[in-house]
Amino acid sequence: MQLFHDQQVKIYNSLTGKKEFFKPINEGHVGMYVCGPTVYSNVHLGNVRTFMSFDMIFRYLKHLGYKVRYVRNITDAGHLENDADAGEDKITKKARLEQIEPMEVVQRYTVDFHNILNTFNFLPPSIEPTATGHIIEQIELISTIIENGFAYEVNGSVYFDVHKFNETHEYGKLSKRKLDDLIHNTRELDGQSDKKNPQDFALWKKAEPQHIMRWPSPWGDGFPGWHLECTAMSTKYLGDRFDIHGGGMDLKFPHHECEIAQNEAAKGESPVNYWMHANMLELNGQRMSKSTGNTVNPDELLSGDNKFFSKAYAPSVIRFFIAQSSYRSVLDLTDDGLLASEKGFFRLMDAINQLDNLQASKTSSINIHTWKQLCYDAMNDDFNSPILIAHLFEAVKYINQVKEGVETLTEADLALLKETINIFTFDILGLENVTKKESGTDKLSAAVDILIKLRQEARANKDFALSDQIRDELANAGIQLKDGKDGTTFSIN
Ligand code: AMP
Ligand code: ZN
Repeated sequence: MQLFHDQQVKIYNSLTGKKEFFKPINEGHVGMYVCGPTVYSNVHLGNVRTFMSFDMIFRYLKHLGYKVRYVRNITDAGHLENDADAGEDKITKKARLEQIEPMEVVQRYTVDFHNILNTFNFLPPSIEPTATGHIIEQIELISTIIENGFAYEVNGSVYFDVHKFNETHEYGKLSKRKLDDLIHNTRELDGQSDKKNPQDFALWKKAEPQHIMRWPSPWGDGFPGWHLECTAMSTKYLGDRFDIHGGGMDLKFPHHECEIAQNEAAKGESPVNYWMHANMLELNGQRMSKSTGNTVNPDELLSGDNKFFSKAYAPSVIRFFIAQSSYRSVLDLTDDGLLASEKGFFRLMDAINQLDNLQASKTSSINIHTWKQLCYDAMNDDFNSPILIAHLFEAVKYINQVKEGVETLTEADLALLKETINIFTFDILGLENVTKKESGTDKLSAAVDILIKLRQEARANKDFALSDQIRDELANAGIQLKDGKDGTTFSIN
């Protein structure tokens, strides 16, 4: 295995607010933890974007020759409806509404999550632990935090004492919040809480008699708090201090802030060297979110069966679209954006598919080694995939110029160009080499367009039986026609 970890990677560390050179704790090894999904509903494209960013980072670090242990959990208990520690457990609520077992909810949406990740060509993480599989570790951690004086028990629940912690530590250092401001800005939730202070958060929650997901503990039957799960699972597999912790920007506070506090309270040290936060995906200018319903599920985008987009898009086109912006920027998912990415993606694939037909020359008029290092420089600069893609398009230009005889490349440089473009496009960006012809979208579109035209002619001749027959038979074949003011479009189910 070739090692490239002489490449100097810089990571934007959310904790310090700076780009820093990446230096792993154990040379040649990387420990990376990313908060996984709460499996109470289908993942939306916003969730996919965050996991895709870390999939690309995992791929790049592996490519550099690091032995990466990538842990991404499944939250299958303990995540309350309100992230600020109130309301019903999301999974229990879903099970109650659908009158099924909580573990049926967990199974259904874990399977959905894995199917979606396979569709988008994700690499599996090294370990995918579940919260319910680590109850013992969580109970041990709570006991230690109580022993160290930073948590208290009330009526069968255990809370983290944020005020006590803040006397000797700095609560809020990741999200740059001050406890005094939090006190000022927190509204007391109907005064019913057992907590000493509203800023305290649950490490363990007492299970009411009707609560199905429950485990015995020194404090009675209950279930763990969401923040605690990630502390238990990350440190079990990566150690009390590890290299990289990632998640979406919305998890910085309170979730990740609480993870830092828990680890400092239990183990006396901050758990993570580099905190990384992926920015949010928006849908037509509004943050994509399950709670507001402003979401599009991957299946709906892949089939074209949704109210937002004019057509179906291939998984690699969506992946390409996401990689065209930095993981740290807000990204707005729009039809125009996807159409532009689709064009760019197929242009890149067409060029890559030309590579084997290029003629080698005795000399090179382009420096491929310099170009190759520019690709590395882009990824070394906090995984800047849009800049990398700009360099890949530079290579598309080279390929076309060599084809036209305007520029020349030797056999060795052609091989280097081919190897490098393949590595960055497929191994690191995770795209798959589909051409329009292979994906069949071109031919199918042309055929459906003919049928749409025949239907219009039938309507013009008042032959409504025929026009309805065309529409219905296409629907039976899984192709829906949509009549709009600008004509008829179609989607594939
Ligand atoms: P959840 O299942 O709600 O815990 O979310 C799983 C992951 O998706 C977390 O890392 C979230 O931060 C992330 N996430 C949620 N909404 C979005 C969004 N609109 N854009 C990007 N990431 C998101
Ligand atoms: Zn987490």
